[in-house]
Amino acid sequence: MNPEDSIIFKNYDSSKISWLKSGGLISKLIKFKNLDDLQNNKDLLSEENIIPIGNFSNLLIKDKGFDGLAIKLAGNFAKIKIENDVLIVGSAVLDSYFSKYCYQHSIQGYEFLYTIPGTIGGNIFMNAGCYGKEIKDYLISILYYDIKSKSVKEESIEDLDFSYRKGFQRKNTIILFGKFKKQLGDQTKIKSLMEVYDKNRHDTQPQKVNCCGSIFKNPPNHNAWKLIKSSLDSSFYEGPIRLSKKHSNFFENDPYISADKVISFIETIKSKVEQKHQIKLDQELIIV
Ligand SMILES: Cc1cc2nc3c(=O)[nH]c(=O)nc-3n(C[C@H](O)[C@H](O)[C@H](O)COP(=O)(O)OP(=O)(O)OC[C@H]3O[C@@H](n4cnc5c(N)ncnc54)[C@H](O)[C@@H]3O)c2cc1C
Repeated sequence: MNPEDSIIFKNYDSSKISWLKSGGLISKLIKFKNLDDLQNNKDLLSEENIIPIGNFSNLLIKDKGFDGLAIKLAGNFAKIKIENDVLIVGSAVLDSYFSKYCYQHSIQGYEFLYTIPGTIGGNIFMNAGCYGKEIKDYLISILYYDIKSKSVKEESIEDLDFSYRKGFQRKNTIILFGKFKKQLGDQTKIKSLMEVYDKNRHDTQPQKVNCCGSIFKNPPNHNAWKLIKSSLDSSFYEGPIRLSKKHSNFFENDPYISADKVISFIETIKSKVEQKHQIKLDQELIIV
């Protein structure tokens, strides 16, 4: 191991970086700026408890904390490269940055990412999407680090089974880069689509609040927000953790609130919806 090549933080307070501004301590967090960093520290990566983290927009660490190693990619992993008809995008690239980059290069298809607050790594893990589009629609292949064999591997999207909010969730792997389709389009149209999506977000979802996006996946043939709204009384829309009055599948919380209270709020919603509609909601938020 070469400690100069990477940065290690101990007892890192996840509420400082989580979109929910909530969550327990991470016993060790390491930042890798490039592949050499990662290879130089590969012995550290044999630890059992490993979690790669992106922009923490869909992740919550329980109050008791995470006793393991969290991996944050940066540096070269936050870059975009164009090679012929392929975009090679680092896992740490932010969605809005990637979307703006595509607009600047007249590349169409990535307008929907303008409104998602995650990273490309988190998107590939979750198969993130909105406005009828998902990351899998544009993905060609994934370059990932396989912790067991300590090597970088590539897998084509055709060999993977992505579905609604379920992307590349293979154990003991770190998504490093995504290779994406490059299709040129009209810059004015790209910009106006980004603006339409952005306006739609502002009109229909809470903004500038501590939240995790949609709490639950939409069950087949149902809207989660309708099920929630029809199952809960007005008390769920008040208090330190409250449902959004703009969109019932979102909650907002006061900063630095207990993660366990957030989890119990989610569980209560689930059980109320199940009592009323006999439908089990499946949450989107990843709880560790
Ligand atoms: C206001 C708001 C709006 C949102 N709107 C949407 C939406 O419209 N559509 C949608 O799909 N989602 C939405 N989300 C949820 C979230 O932004 C996405 O799920 C996003 O893909 C998560 O990316 P992230 O980088 O924040 O991942 P994190 O929250 O940091 O992590 C999420 C999961 O991905 C894993 N992960 C992250 N990076 C890697 C990596 N490099 N290798 C392996 N695993 C990794 C983590 O271990 C974790 O399990 C929204 C969230 C918020 C707060």
